[in-house]
Amino acid sequence: MNTELNTENTAALPESGFAALGITGNLLKATIASGFAEPKPIQVKAIPPHLAGRDIIAIAQTGSGKTAAFSLPILTKIIAIGAKRLPKTARALILAPTRELAVQIEDTIKVLAKGLHISTALVLGGVSRNSQVKKMQPGVDILIATPGRLTDLVREGEVKLNETRWLVLDEADRMLDMGFINDVRRLSKATHPERQTALYSATMPDEIAELAKTLLRNPVRVEAAPPATTVVEIKQGLVIARVKQKRQVLSGMLADEKMKSVIVFSRTKHGADRVTRDLERDGFNAAVIHGNKSQNARQKALNDFREGSVRILVATDIAARGIDVPGISHVVNYDLPDEPESYVHRIGRTGRNGADGVAITLCDPAEFSKLRAVERITRMKIAVLADHTDQPDPAVNKNEPREAPYRDPRSQPRQENGNRNHKGGGNRSAQGKPGGGAPAGERKPFRGKRRGFGSKPATRAA
Ligand code: AMP
Repeated sequence: MNTELNTENTAALPESGFAALGITGNLLKATIASGFAEPKPIQVKAIPPHLAGRDIIAIAQTGSGKTAAFSLPILTKIIAIGAKRLPKTARALILAPTRELAVQIEDTIKVLAKGLHISTALVLGGVSRNSQVKKMQPGVDILIATPGRLTDLVREGEVKLNETRWLVLDEADRMLDMGFINDVRRLSKATHPERQTALYSATMPDEIAELAKTLLRNPVRVEAAPPATTVVEIKQGLVIARVKQKRQVLSGMLADEKMKSVIVFSRTKHGADRVTRDLERDGFNAAVIHGNKSQNARQKALNDFREGSVRILVATDIAARGIDVPGISHVVNYDLPDEPESYVHRIGRTGRNGADGVAITLCDPAEFSKLRAVERITRMKIAVLADHTDQPDPAVNKNEPREAPYRDPRSQPRQENGNRNHKGGGNRSAQGKPGGGAPAGERKPFRGKRRGFGSKPATRAA
């Protein structure tokens, strides 16, 4: 490793916000070369205290630039040490909840550390462990791992964490949701007692705050954006449809080719498979990604979607977490997530880096309480684009008595706020067609009542 990188003269480099944050030498060059001209807010806030050796607790979402926020200081320190690596050890450990996110983190680090002779390894479940064990044999600078497989390899003595002086817990709230929290605790305890720790989380449930108290020492708290705010560039709309109608509504929407690159979210793995099957039967080419798929199948689905050879990716929340595919034009929520925070993560897959994005949620009347929870945390009301519930249901046997047509109870103006009227549009009324490509009104299968697209949130949560 080149130990002189840090002290290199950087006077010839263009003035960069990263230099002002303390990133220097070839790492600064590589950062700028990778297209990161100016630091993002989370980077401005997190890099200086991280470089100063402080523990960090950061509230930041995927898309905020958090990977560079924790990677650049760690790379700086590893370059500065430049000592020999010990077998089976890792100088830095980044724990991530999903395989996809771990792969993405490694990709980012490789770009930022290009030409700096930094070694990285991935330890993930779902793929052969032998190559991982082999990769860890000489020791690495940065290990990126999911907690389950790493726990196994540490237990078997194939990985040693006693030399790990930098620990990052990325998307800690998701690791909690996925039941990894005890593994995270155990792995953290196995690292060097003098380690520096950074915990990144999109939300801060009590359990994560508790975890932070036990694992972090006098941390600096930084925040990229308030938790559970929606991105202003994303236009959001609601389509009310019964569960039985959703397949037809979705296929009708996707007939619009302006929906160029679409993620369809399903709450369950089984549901994701069913939606994919139905889409294929309806003549669409769709890939699916969820936790029961092999690592190779997941990576292939993601690559096909990223490269544009499939237009539609059906995903569960867990699998989609952290996916950063540029240019996703639309997010469709086939159903509402159990946790309202997931809605914010889902729709955040579109509208990246200032691009326009559209998020459409299909909502059965039975899901109304979940919708209200979403509206509470985002502090905005999602405008109704269409209501299919008073349409004849084609899936229902004509001889069976039909259910009474659904009436949106929220169409009654609320006493404390007369504007809360979905059907009338209220003060968020029509702004033309949704996102220049969301469901077009006249298409046949999409024949519910057309409403205005409530585009941007009226307020951004403070
Ligand atoms: P992340 O939140 O780390 O997944 O980053 C989201 C996206 O922002 C990724 O595509 C990064 O490559 C990109 N990114 C991160 N930091 C910067 C920056 N300072 N300038 C431009 N792009 C960035």
